[in-house]
Amino acid sequence: MARLQANTSRTETLMKYMNLDQKGTLMAEYIWIDSAGNTRSKSRTLAAKEYTPDTLPTWNFDGSSTGQAPAGNSDVYLKPIAVFPDPFTQSPNILVLTECWDADGTPNKYNYRHECAKIMEFHKEKKPWFGLEQEYTLLGDDDRPFGWPKGGFPAPQFQYYCGVGFGNVVQRDIVLAHYKACLYAGVKISGTNAEVMPAQWEYQVGPCEGIEMGDHLWLSRFLLNRVAEDFGAKVSVHPKPMPGDWNGAGLHSNFSTQEMREEGGMEHIEAAIKKLEGRHLEHIAVYGEDNEKRLTGHHETGAIDQFTWGVATRGASIRIPREVAAKGYGYFEDRRPASNADPYRITNAIMVSCCGDAE
Ligand code: ADP
Ligand code: MN
Ligand code: MN
Ligand code: MN
Repeated sequence: MARLQANTSRTETLMKYMNLDQKGTLMAEYIWIDSAGNTRSKSRTLAAKEYTPDTLPTWNFDGSSTGQAPAGNSDVYLKPIAVFPDPFTQSPNILVLTECWDADGTPNKYNYRHECAKIMEFHKEKKPWFGLEQEYTLLGDDDRPFGWPKGGFPAPQFQYYCGVGFGNVVQRDIVLAHYKACLYAGVKISGTNAEVMPAQWEYQVGPCEGIEMGDHLWLSRFLLNRVAEDFGAKVSVHPKPMPGDWNGAGLHSNFSTQEMREEGGMEHIEAAIKKLEGRHLEHIAVYGEDNEKRLTGHHETGAIDQFTWGVATRGASIRIPREVAAKGYGYFEDRRPASNADPYRITNAIMVSCCGDAE
């Protein structure tokens, strides 16, 4: 039998239920990172009250379904590490970012946060600040970027970067909705812009101190995927979504320590860049998959097999912003990380190279 024709939109119908009283309970959405670098989540009911990571229950999931555990020993534990207000279902409901742990009490193979948190704790007196620029591409059902003509290509790159107007940008509603969702959740998003390739966008998170950088960036990725799901778009963080004369997508990583931010800081910035130079390959190893397709030395990148740096240079591995060079202190930008890199691995590597390993 045919379903009766609804005379209200699905959104309006959903809203009837979203406003229902929850009778003293809240929905907690537990979020984790899987073996492929995607976020996963599942929800549970808790009594409605204020929670911190310490007062939230540890939970678990079937790791054999996410490539995180063998079928014979599939339980992986979810340890809460940060709590955020849920922008989708709103107060009192919460998002719970977690770390994955195995049953034997060791961090799961794909838990890159654990080591990162240790190194950040070890160097905390240096007050390390990070700011990450997440680039991404919005794809349709056909896995092609939105707005790209079927069987053809858009006009060459020029009018799209920070573009305004029909024909220059697409899907701005997703960007706006994501921005608002981040602000509601308390994610330290610092801005957004349309990117050089059509259907490509960027947002920045930071400055964040220490482990907070990875936590906020991962939550922002979860929010982006949830928002794009609502709008029927796919989010690609592939570093070279379209081969050819089109820009790739990165996760530029801006970094400073307290001494770099003070008078005379340039000396410390240059010393850190020297240390990074000696460990180029160690960094490339954790800066994302398929990054060789992006780091070609063209399209505003440095070549993958060379370490280069300079003031205001966008074709280098490391760029010192013009304003920083003029003032003589501030921060530098590591342009090498790919858009699909894990922020815990990036910030861990930068911290170790610039300031040393934990004892
Ligand atoms: P770009 O010119 O490379 O596009 P953006 O404006 O997109 O730069 O991003 C700059 C990033 O640098 C932001 O995420 C910002 O939070 C971060 N940032 C600014 N100052 C510092 C600092 N002192 N230390 C670390 N990161 C910083
Ligand atoms: Mn940027
Ligand atoms: Mn950019
Ligand atoms: Mn940048």
